[in-house]
Amino acid sequence: MTKSADYIARAKDALLGNYPPASVVLTEGSGVRVRDVDGKSYLDLAAGIAVLSLGHAHPQLSARIAEQAGRLMHVSNLVYNDTTIRFAEELVKRTPFARVFFCNSGTEANEAMLKLARRFHYERGDQQRVEIVTTEHSFHGRTYGALSVTGQPKYHVGMGPMLGGVETVPYGDLDAMKAVVSEKTAAILVEPLQAEGGLFVPPEGYLKGLRELADERGALLLFDEVQTGYGRLGTFLGGEVFGVIPDACSLAKGIAGGFPLGAMLVSDRIKEGLPPGSHASTFGGNPLACAAGLATLEVFDEADILGRVERLGAYLRERLEALVAELPEILVERRGLGLLQGVRLARGVDAAAIINRLVDGGVLATIAGGDVIRLSPPLIIEESELDEGLRILREVFDDLRKREA
Ligand SMILES: *Cc1c(COP(=O)(O)O)cnc(C)c1O
Repeated sequence: MTKSADYIARAKDALLGNYPPASVVLTEGSGVRVRDVDGKSYLDLAAGIAVLSLGHAHPQLSARIAEQAGRLMHVSNLVYNDTTIRFAEELVKRTPFARVFFCNSGTEANEAMLKLARRFHYERGDQQRVEIVTTEHSFHGRTYGALSVTGQPKYHVGMGPMLGGVETVPYGDLDAMKAVVSEKTAAILVEPLQAEGGLFVPPEGYLKGLRELADERGALLLFDEVQTGYGRLGTFLGGEVFGVIPDACSLAKGIAGGFPLGAMLVSDRIKEGLPPGSHASTFGGNPLACAAGLATLEVFDEADILGRVERLGAYLRERLEALVAELPEILVERRGLGLLQGVRLARGVDAAAIINRLVDGGVLATIAGGDVIRLSPPLIIEESELDEGLRILREVFDDLRKREA
């Protein structure tokens, strides 16, 4: 029995069965490579679902985390600490937003936005505005508020009732949004690009149209930037690609290079929306996570990560388009932007089987929207490493094509 097989058997007796992981037991990593307990190496094009912006075990990130852990790990939000303040200042400096609230995950950042949206209107004496308008195929997280505004019924099965006051309309359809946004709407919530839903880029003018609609009808516009933010699309925030600034946005995933951290950024206009005592998080914004966040930004600047993502994103786009053109029996289209791209599989091609074949070939990737093979590599990936991954991807697809023929 391999060590992996032994661990997997033990996992089934110790871990809750809510996840369906691939049969891989990783034990260490460096850069874009990880190694399993049997010594097999993999190219990591998943990066922990778009989390590890700097790859595995980045020396600067590891050193900053170790240094902060040896100095001050946690203090609560009942006192200040220098590291958290410095990190918040950096986020304000790099974005159009005025204030930061820290938490520990994407779903929590979205919960904060939902609470802020309702409380903002309440503080202004408008207690009617409680509705949140969200979109089909969206993904906002697994806690009850975020789950309730997630437009994918499969995640709601057996878990109802969901939070009230939620309207769901098709994504990318401005007229559908216009038909429901009213004097009862607290906020419109969208992802600048639907990530989990299948790397769906909105039609031209959609996000700008939402901005105008929200302003016209007195609702807030909220962006869930948990996956699209922090350089993933080649701009610091995904909204910048479309030239739209929402009233607030949520961040998590890549924000601290793999250390758990979430944030909500809010505009000057709504910064008083959550008055003292109205919201909180025990671990939120702890100095250890913020040190990881600061170190990540340091590397962003030193290695011109945004410039790299823009350049590699264009390259990946070209390569994936060529792959789709080459294998029309297997691939339908290329999706996504920056270093968050993928290929949509033809009907009948089993995505999970592809992921398993990639694992056998030494590549980690993920599925989005059920039929898209998603590549979300570390932002520090080299072109040659991307080429290596694409070569294996092509082999797997080609093999499948030959089998089907
Ligand atoms: C991953 C994700 C979330 C949830 O983040 P967690 O950290 O898992 O709670 C929310 N929104 C989007 C767009 C995501 O990609």
